[in-house]
Amino acid sequence: MGEAGSVKHNIRMELPPAVERMLEALDEAGIEAYLVGGCVRDHLLGLTPKDYDIAAAAPPERTGEALERAGCRVYPTGIRHGTVTAVLDGLAVELTAYRADGEYADHRHPGSVRFVSDIKQDVLRRDFTCNALAYHPQKGLVDHVGGLEDLRAGLLRCVGEPEARFEEDALRILRALRFSAALGFAIEKKTAEALIRKAPLLHGIARERVSAELQGLVCGKAAPEVLTHFPGVLACCLPGLEAATEADFAAMAERLRALPPEPVLRLCPLVRLCGPRAEEALQALRLSARQEGALRLLLEEGDDLIEDMPALRRTLGRCGEERTRLLLLWQGGRALPLLREALEKGLCCSVHELHIRGGDLAALGLAGPAIGRTLNALLELVIRDEVPNKRESLLAAARELGGKDDGTQ
Ligand code: ATP
Ligand code: MG
Repeated sequence: MGEAGSVKHNIRMELPPAVERMLEALDEAGIEAYLVGGCVRDHLLGLTPKDYDIAAAAPPERTGEALERAGCRVYPTGIRHGTVTAVLDGLAVELTAYRADGEYADHRHPGSVRFVSDIKQDVLRRDFTCNALAYHPQKGLVDHVGGLEDLRAGLLRCVGEPEARFEEDALRILRALRFSAALGFAIEKKTAEALIRKAPLLHGIARERVSAELQGLVCGKAAPEVLTHFPGVLACCLPGLEAATEADFAAMAERLRALPPEPVLRLCPLVRLCGPRAEEALQALRLSARQEGALRLLLEEGDDLIEDMPALRRTLGRCGEERTRLLLLWQGGRALPLLREALEKGLCCSVHELHIRGGDLAALGLAGPAIGRTLNALLELVIRDEVPNKRESLLAAARELGGKDDGTQ
């Protein structure tokens, strides 16, 4: 045991050389610093950290100067919160001054930020015990919250009093579900009870933040279990879920299991579960235009199975490769070889790919809407392999069609 409440462990963490050098530079400048948060957690779980965060016992300006002297590029990415981003060998690391958050104003943002000199205070403001571990190559692992034990037991537990922590920042409710789903951790009993009780606070959280957490949550390996365990929490995130039954949730989870972990695919069963309020739910997700378009396609056409090459080509021409791929994955992936074949062979799927132009049809005497109609009719013939996509063949087919085009649909 080290100082009161803290446990030091002789754990060795293999670090990227750039991170080692940053920590050395801080040591040389006399600034105490530790790696903190997700990178320590992921390393201990045998996962590759997505990114590295450092907490430092100095104001961001001083930290930044020490790192610049060591050859880093330093960007003032959040000076007000004590954060700078340092880049070395192409690796970006966030460095934040040890902080203790003040009163929380709106169930999300601390009204004030207090810089402190003790790593202990810094880890105590963090959300979950597995996210509150600190590591330094020479000092080892510092654990003030029993994080290592929880991590080994696969338990997600709030640092401190769960109800108070969720009241401070209600987004932590969804972070808990996301980490539980992503890591396959059980949620400790008091933490679980508190997050259920405090879930209505999620109504006051920015939709974009809720959506980002939901997207992470549905892609987690234990998402089906987490979603079925906390239907009330989800009902505070998406309108319409409050009307779904336990059986509906179970069916949704089953559907989720069969889908690869891609946010649009995994969100679809959840949005469907919103029933008559699905459109409202879709809006609430604040997706990018790209994601929203793809999700709409799944909702509207997901049940129309694509089983043959003509159907595949029509969809590919209309929706593009990315959406078509998602639609096929949603449908179980059986038609993916058709997509591969169509792309490999460069099969014509849209009027733009026809080897004939509107101008060619005008030269045949067609005008106005008849041109578009004929191009579409030609495309359909090409897609059904009835006419090759060759200029002469298409012109011949257009002449034949032109004779039939009497201006009606
Ligand atoms: P991920 O792998 O998803 O990035 P992470 O643990 O790195 O996981 P971040 O959101 O990047 O999560 O946050 C970094 C660290 O900051 C967390 O590990 C946690 O210690 C702390 N933290 C982040 N958000 C909160 C919050 N809302 N309340 C308290 N602590 C938080
Ligand atoms: Mg992170």
